[in-house]
Amino acid sequence: MQNGEPIAAIATPPGRGGIGIVRLSGRDLKPFLIALLGRVPKPRFATLAALKDAEGRVIDEGIVLYFSAPHSYTGEDVVELQGHGGMTVLNLLLKRCLELGARLAEPGEFSKRAFLSGKLDLAQAESVADLIDASTAEAARSAMRSLRGEFSREVNALKDGLMELRALTEATLDFPDEEIDFLQQADAFGRLERLRARLAGLLANARQGALLREGAQVALVGRPNVGKSSLLNRLAREEVAIVTEIPGTTRDTIRSHVEIQGVPFHIIDTAGLRETQDAVERIGIERARRAVEAADLVLVVTEYGQGVTPEDEAILRQLPDRLPRVVVRNKIDLAGVAPAVRAEGTTTEVWLSAKTGEGVELLQQELLRQAGWTSSGEGLFMARERHLAALTEAQERLAAAAPAASLGLELFAEELRLAHAALATITGEFTADDLLGQIFSRFCIGK
Ligand code: GDP
Ligand code: ZN
Repeated sequence: MQNGEPIAAIATPPGRGGIGIVRLSGRDLKPFLIALLGRVPKPRFATLAALKDAEGRVIDEGIVLYFSAPHSYTGEDVVELQGHGGMTVLNLLLKRCLELGARLAEPGEFSKRAFLSGKLDLAQAESVADLIDASTAEAARSAMRSLRGEFSREVNALKDGLMELRALTEATLDFPDEEIDFLQQADAFGRLERLRARLAGLLANARQGALLREGAQVALVGRPNVGKSSLLNRLAREEVAIVTEIPGTTRDTIRSHVEIQGVPFHIIDTAGLRETQDAVERIGIERARRAVEAADLVLVVTEYGQGVTPEDEAILRQLPDRLPRVVVRNKIDLAGVAPAVRAEGTTTEVWLSAKTGEGVELLQQELLRQAGWTSSGEGLFMARERHLAALTEAQERLAAAAPAASLGLELFAEELRLAHAALATITGEFTADDLLGQIFSRFCIGK
């Protein structure tokens, strides 16, 4: 399955830190341990040792952890050298491991080996990266549930149900005269319906999980001085201040990350994209347009007291039709109006004050609703686009199965087989090498 050639990487992030870790995996790492510390330490115990270079000089003194195969993350021998967290020391340790015959690990190679040796299925391995990349606490908890196998267990339960149904069907194929009777007796169609319902539930959950992972892209538009920046600050402040500002390619900050009930929202302030004061022209410029086009929804800020001005109208007209929009009528404090939500066709209005904070809660609820968040977050697991595509494919196959049965049992059996195959790609039973490459190459080095 894999050759177990030794690989090594610095597993802690680059820079200074209290502790830095060099990680090794390979079929047999005992020669490395003997060369580095003069002995093979007891597996699964923390061993304080001096780590030496080829000349016997001490590179660092630290903790060595040895996990002997197969009781390790990768299923192979794994060694962690925990030294001081300075890049020079860590590079010397890494260099020593390479001298001893290891090669540099590729991104995600440890996790890939864990997958190939059956320690993790593919959905679990993906959740390792998702846990590391999680941008909110809720996203991290979901990734953890996936890593612990909750998503995979649901997928496997569906696969098992499909297997039974397929076995039943294929057995019937050998007795063509009685086939339909036989299937009815075995409640084949009832089973199919139950599997479809279960799959629909799983898909709905997976969509929520994918939202936690990806977040929603929001484009913020509006004339100057209507209160866009104030609103952004307010949204950021209402949360536990998990706001990271990523400087754009221009001088301005154009992206903010705001969390609402654990769901990440990536807000692009299109006003920050260009200095011009001409709002109509501004939204016409290329980068703002692209931001708007990539968005899942648009937040159009207007000023309550001014109503919807011709300039506001012009901005609204330029938004792509497909794009859901929320019109914020800001500064209600000046008009002495109470906060409110008004729905009109595809447009929803929220009346609020960025200054006092009144009505901001309503906007948050509306943003969650528009993003498709229906969950309480309880018991969710992390899912990716790839998983949604596979679940959708399986759903379509199962929808086609019952009509296919009336045309011939072979066709029924074939739809079941294809649904099963789609589900199997999630956990990675039969996975093409290039897909594995794609998935694991996005991991960090050392994971
Ligand atoms: P932007 O140009 O759209 O980003 O608008 P700013 O957020 O910079 O706000 C423009 C001005 O309007 C500032 O003086 C804000 O203090 C003020 N402002 C923003 N929101 C409100 C609000 O809800 N009520 C009141 N009274 N003033 C506001
Ligand atoms: Zn602004």
